[in-house]
Amino acid sequence: MVDYLRLSLTDRCNLNCVYCTPLEKAGFLKHDELLRHEELARAAAAFVRAGVTKIRLTGGEPLLKRNIVGLVHLLRAIPGLKELALTTNGLLLGPLAPELRAAGLDRVNISLDTLRRKTFQEITGSDGLARVWEGINASLAAGFSEVKLNAVLMKGVNSGEAPDFARLTGERPLTVRFIEFYPANARAARLKGALFTTAETKRSIEDALGPLEELPAARSDGPARVYKLPGAKGKIGFISGRSSYFCGACNRVRMDCTGRVYPCLFSPATHSLKDLLRAGAPDEALADYIRKIFLVKSNYKKDSSTAGHIEMSSLGG
Ligand code: SAM
Repeated sequence: MVDYLRLSLTDRCNLNCVYCTPLEKAGFLKHDELLRHEELARAAAAFVRAGVTKIRLTGGEPLLKRNIVGLVHLLRAIPGLKELALTTNGLLLGPLAPELRAAGLDRVNISLDTLRRKTFQEITGSDGLARVWEGINASLAAGFSEVKLNAVLMKGVNSGEAPDFARLTGERPLTVRFIEFYPANARAARLKGALFTTAETKRSIEDALGPLEELPAARSDGPARVYKLPGAKGKIGFISGRSSYFCGACNRVRMDCTGRVYPCLFSPATHSLKDLLRAGAPDEALADYIRKIFLVKSNYKKDSSTAGHIEMSSLGG
């Protein structure tokens, strides 16, 4: 059953990550191609009417979206929406975290692949590590129901940092989640041999810090397997998109910032809501259209290990 929408708000990003930002980009989308706040909120409400209970805002970098706090207010007011979350690179989060929380954002995931300033520069092309930490600390202080760090480890780049990330969970109520590298686009495909698997990551943590305790699966974990270090305040999760196959448990669809809907991360966009929205379609017609997309998804079972080209940078992973 589909109950989770990942909503990409913009194709723009303020980082240039070695495994994500496309090698060549034709230019950013024009203003009129992007859905406006009211259109995004109507689309989101129709998804909720069709059965979605959780929405995650992503991008590009979602905090680059104009008046993101206003948009969070609009989305939070949708009846039946149980959870509103955000995935961000954290650069702009410090000053915004309290306002986003006050507007009704429940959870924040912050993408952070390294704890070292120089490696951060190498991976992202920016000297922004200190600002990301301001964002993490502001989020912990703002009282979100969960603050997660998402790390993609790559052999020969940052794979030696797994124990350092794990140590962060000892003293703070942070969840660190390791996401397996995926050769999604032409740029990522150039990083041959970069995959550092869940098994390798877990072994390197346990070699340094001792055995991890597995925690019972919670609904909010999605496809992640979650562990903790004995006595730790935080948790450690693993998402093994490359080394294991979890399409059967997938409960999500994705919509990009132009209204195109992707029933699967590895499928092309099969539908678009923009024309219906701009033609003033009634709420129930939008929800009916979305229910049809959910049916397409249930027939779309592709093995993630054989999937092709994906632009995570605009679709949001
Ligand atoms: N800008 C936001 C951020 O940095 O979180 C949201 C968009 S970003 C594309 C979402 C997530 O996709 C990030 O955590 C990033 O690490 C992940 N991602 C991008 N390309 C990836 C790849 N090739 N393999 C694994 N994860 C990837």
